Amino acid sequence: MSEADAIIVVGGGHAGAQVCVGLVEAGLGARVHLVCEEAELPYQRPPLSKAYLKNPEEGLQAHRGAAWFEEHAVKLHLADAVTAIHRATKTVALHSGAVLPYERLVLATGTRARHLPGIPEGLSNAAVVRTASDAQRVRGLLASSGHVTVLGGGFIGLEVAATARLLGKTVTLLEAAPRLLARSVSPELAEHVLHTHRANGIDVRVGVTAGHFQVSHGRLVALSVDGTREPVDLLVLGVGALPETALAEAAGLACANGVVVDACLRTSDPAILAVGDCTSFLSHAHARHVAGRLRLESVQNANDQARTATATLLGREEPYQALPWFWSEQGTMRLQMAGLMPADGVRHRRPGSSDQSFSILHYVGTELRCVESVNAPLDHMTARKLLEAGRSPAPSLACDPTRAMKSFL
Ligand code: FAD
Repeated sequence: MSEADAIIVVGGGHAGAQVCVGLVEAGLGARVHLVCEEAELPYQRPPLSKAYLKNPEEGLQAHRGAAWFEEHAVKLHLADAVTAIHRATKTVALHSGAVLPYERLVLATGTRARHLPGIPEGLSNAAVVRTASDAQRVRGLLASSGHVTVLGGGFIGLEVAATARLLGKTVTLLEAAPRLLARSVSPELAEHVLHTHRANGIDVRVGVTAGHFQVSHGRLVALSVDGTREPVDLLVLGVGALPETALAEAAGLACANGVVVDACLRTSDPAILAVGDCTSFLSHAHARHVAGRLRLESVQNANDQARTATATLLGREEPYQALPWFWSEQGTMRLQMAGLMPADGVRHRRPGSSDQSFSILHYVGTELRCVESVNAPLDHMTARKLLEAGRSPAPSLACDPTRAMKSFL
């Protein structure tokens, strides 16, 4: 096997690890290099804001152990980022100084946490939760803090707030938009999430402006909320993430809120693919519903795009058309979403066994497009099956998962 046959995967997150698994299953492990800027073996990211943060004994959940990479001859480069792609010579340069030739390159660089310009980086009591080392740091900071201020009412901010509350901290969560999860869930679900967190003792404030970050001796000591000064013990920023496209842009690949890929996940250079959170993609499945490109940040999208990319690398044209789904755990709430929420849908609420359990079904005309569930895993699984099969039972039927499932079978 010549080195020039190499398939180099850049980024050892969910998508990168899954591409390696697919290539190993196809018998190509010996051609694969996985280049990771993080020092850890590829690990599951979702627990970082949940179980890992809550329990100091909790370890990282590796996708595959070191022995697996060795057994399948996948070459791992840990703590060694790719610093440049040289398309003319089909090589990548690594931070360590190594230069690796490739036949095919897969960018799986994910996202990086957004920072706020008013908050200097490197403060001893301000943090984001994106990587294992971030989460480890926040775990330590939580142990020595009584109060936590979370900036941002998206999924990660809410998960961190709920976890901190479970740890007995007093928690304030500040969101600038008029409601929580404004980009991702329906107003009804956002309202339920707001009330549940407030009922659990989190001081959630929406439609507020945080500013005037006051720093002293490398610590954030206070901020203002709508003009009122509030002291800060620990600040966790959950203000979103940006696609990590620096390498791709520097290499002249088309990028627009992500690395632009076709339905088989090829970038504007057919020798280079991109997968996961960093991609801006066209989905055949949603072409009817979504005008323009999508960029999703979810484990489902990372895993399913990795499968499509593996097929492309193996010479098969299998356009990406997986159903989007997502979950989030926030204290006592397990939120699950299947499908893409339409802007103009009609919503039907399906009550569950308690007021803490229900689903919201989104229809456009007679077509079921999306189901949001709270503590209703059976509804979620039924919804996924129905949506994947393109079935749209009438709301009355779909509101009964057992009957809906029977009609599906
Ligand atoms: P990532 O997992 O972000 O991996 C990208 C990797 O590329 C990183 O390790 C990065 O260091 C590396 N990299 C970047 N540039 C380079 C370079 N130049 N050289 C080498 N390596 C590089 N999703 C859900 O569906 N449900 C959840 O409950 C959920 N919870 C989450 C909780 C947290 C705290 C976070 C941060 C995310 C969560 N997500 C959740 C989102 C999910 O983890 C991501 O969608 C998923 O990790 C995306 O996988 P990825 O491989 O595209 O990117």
